[in-house]
Amino acid sequence: MSAAAALLADQRRYFDSGATRPAGWRRTQLEALRRLLTEREDELTGAVGEDLGKSRTEAFLSEITAVRAEIDYALKHLDRWMAPERIAVPGGLQPGRAWSQARPLGVVLIIGPWNYPLNLVLTPLVGALAAGNAAVLKPSELAAATSRVLARLVPEYLDREAVAVVEGGAEVSTDLLAQPFDHVFYTGGERVGKIVMKAAAEHLTPVTLELGGKSPAVVVGGDLRAAARRIAYGKFMNAAQTCVAPDYVLTTPAAAPILADALAAAVRDFYGSDPRTSRDYGRIINEHHFDRLVGLMDGGTVVSGGRHERAERYIEPTVLRHVDPGSPLMQEEIFGPLLPILEVADLDEAIRFIGARPHPLAAYLFSDRDEHLRTFTDRVHAGGLAHNVCTIQLAVPGLPFGGVGASGTGSYHGRQSFETFSHVQPVFSKPTRVDTLRLAYPPFGPIKRRL
Ligand code: NAD
Repeated sequence: MSAAAALLADQRRYFDSGATRPAGWRRTQLEALRRLLTEREDELTGAVGEDLGKSRTEAFLSEITAVRAEIDYALKHLDRWMAPERIAVPGGLQPGRAWSQARPLGVVLIIGPWNYPLNLVLTPLVGALAAGNAAVLKPSELAAATSRVLARLVPEYLDREAVAVVEGGAEVSTDLLAQPFDHVFYTGGERVGKIVMKAAAEHLTPVTLELGGKSPAVVVGGDLRAAARRIAYGKFMNAAQTCVAPDYVLTTPAAAPILADALAAAVRDFYGSDPRTSRDYGRIINEHHFDRLVGLMDGGTVVSGGRHERAERYIEPTVLRHVDPGSPLMQEEIFGPLLPILEVADLDEAIRFIGARPHPLAAYLFSDRDEHLRTFTDRVHAGGLAHNVCTIQLAVPGLPFGGVGASGTGSYHGRQSFETFSHVQPVFSKPTRVDTLRLAYPPFGPIKRRL
């Protein structure tokens, strides 16, 4: 038996014992996870810093507090989520009771990416635990320090029989994916997403795929300086390696030069005139992605930023104009600190531009006109939308998060996480004493046929 098969067998035995089902166990685990985040904050943020050059403050906000907020939300609502829901029984089927109740799926596999290496493993885990599952976590090998710290600390705090961390790369994922887990929750790129879905199909295992894509930010009105600051903030945090970061900007020819200048000014305000020396600006995960990003710069004219240093995996926040829509810069997800500005005549053209491409994970509109906000919300189909802000919509507790089409399938956060890791099981319970069903039994005479 392979190590992956043995691990799943052990966890399934534990799950089948019923140990993870009671609300008390779920609460204890969520509280223990909260303690892990609080007591070992330095080790956790230090590891993320080592992997991504993220400042402690940014790691604290985007990795620690984000997961803590999910835990608190789950603890607050758990009783309500677990409560059975009564369903009305029609007169002809009375007497009887019908209800539905969430039950855990079983043993779930959570495969994480490198860009928010704690958050994107632990936030799904919050849902898995709240729903009463056992879980195997497979952090990304590309964020090696975070993977190591998770493998060391998770067994110290959580029920070891129910939660395991398995370290390794594609081969390890492949072995795990060959096992009949009860759910696979994958966050990462589209290419591997397809591999995960195919592997899961072999066992008819349901999947949640949290993928990426090219999320647009449309700027068609309002205060351009304010828009630029919010776009620069949402884009350049974590050196723009954020799945919901705006990938490119669509704006009008009149606004484009003003917005480009305002973006450069926002970058100077946030990170100084040499962001390389800023403690608040991160680094690219590895040389492969560094080289890919430098190559993408050929797709347009750099109007601010552009400096880079391979030895440090540093790429300056960069704004580009006069972009070739057919270039790789506009064909693949950028996932790095390059921000192309493209010009469109108006909101209608921007919406058609977005609609002609795969559904993005997020789409943003900057405008001060209600009519624009309404039109954009009605016509743009993305995983999620935000008005006059970007990226931080993820911080709204209870707002579901996920993609659609090419940007993913399924969603989580808040109640959605609980539902993702639960099976809502319906029950119809009818006493035998009064056999009202006899009216429905054959033979069907003329009266029954009329019923
Ligand atoms: P990655 O390369 O770290 O891969 C993600 C996971 O897949 C890792 O755990 C890795 O070990 C595993 N993996 C790699 N190759 C595999 C294979 N052949 N078979 C099975 N498993 C394999 O991360 P990435 O894909 O570079 O992550 C970046 C992408 O993730 C971007 O596209 C980004 O938009 C997306 N993303 C999405 C979200 C979201 O919540 N929707 C969040 C973050 C990142």
